[in-house]
Amino acid sequence: MSTIKHHTPDHLMAAYTAGSLPHPFAMVVAAQISMDDTCRASYEAHQAVGGIILEDTETSDVSDDLKSNVLDQLDASYVEKPRKKPQGVYPAPVMAALKGRAPRWKSLGLGVRQDILWAGPEGSVRLLYIPANQAVPDHSHGGLELTLVLQGSFSDETGEFNVGDLEVANEDLEHTPFAGGDQDCICLAATDAPLRFRSFMPRLLQPLFRI
Ligand code: ZN
Repeated sequence: MSTIKHHTPDHLMAAYTAGSLPHPFAMVVAAQISMDDTCRASYEAHQAVGGIILEDTETSDVSDDLKSNVLDQLDASYVEKPRKKPQGVYPAPVMAALKGRAPRWKSLGLGVRQDILWAGPEGSVRLLYIPANQAVPDHSHGGLELTLVLQGSFSDETGEFNVGDLEVANEDLEHTPFAGGDQDCICLAATDAPLRFRSFMPRLLQPLFRI
């Protein structure tokens, strides 16, 4: 039985299905869909609703050709195709971003490491490696942050997140994610604005790490 408790919220799933979610967030949502039957069902429900809306346009003068074109374009606009089978720790969308290579971990200090998978004007998405019992420095967010647990667990002011769980953080949340003691924690994390660290050192290092 799945122990996943924190799923992709409906508004993000709707945006993902419509192809309007920025690439970094789309990768995280695609990864959760590939790990979690509940999110997969929600994704399929959103797809079905999109299909029904298009079917309803039949009464107008929309030709079948145009309609199937629209459906094709909808398919093409998905930034990441969710695939069902995860491969080891890394779900298929992460494997695709890694292009078959192993993660290239770069130290952020205190044993915390990252591998930036993609960075652009829409934001960035990275793998984060947090040793067991280690905290990520206290920070708040300039925008949206999605964090999906791939291995181990972490907890913060809002609760506990295990493999397959997604945390959605925004400007209102200041938190200190703390890795659980059983296993080193690996997360897939996407942001669309720099994090705001409280302490001096991370702020100093931030431009270097692009976090
Ligand atoms: Zn955060």
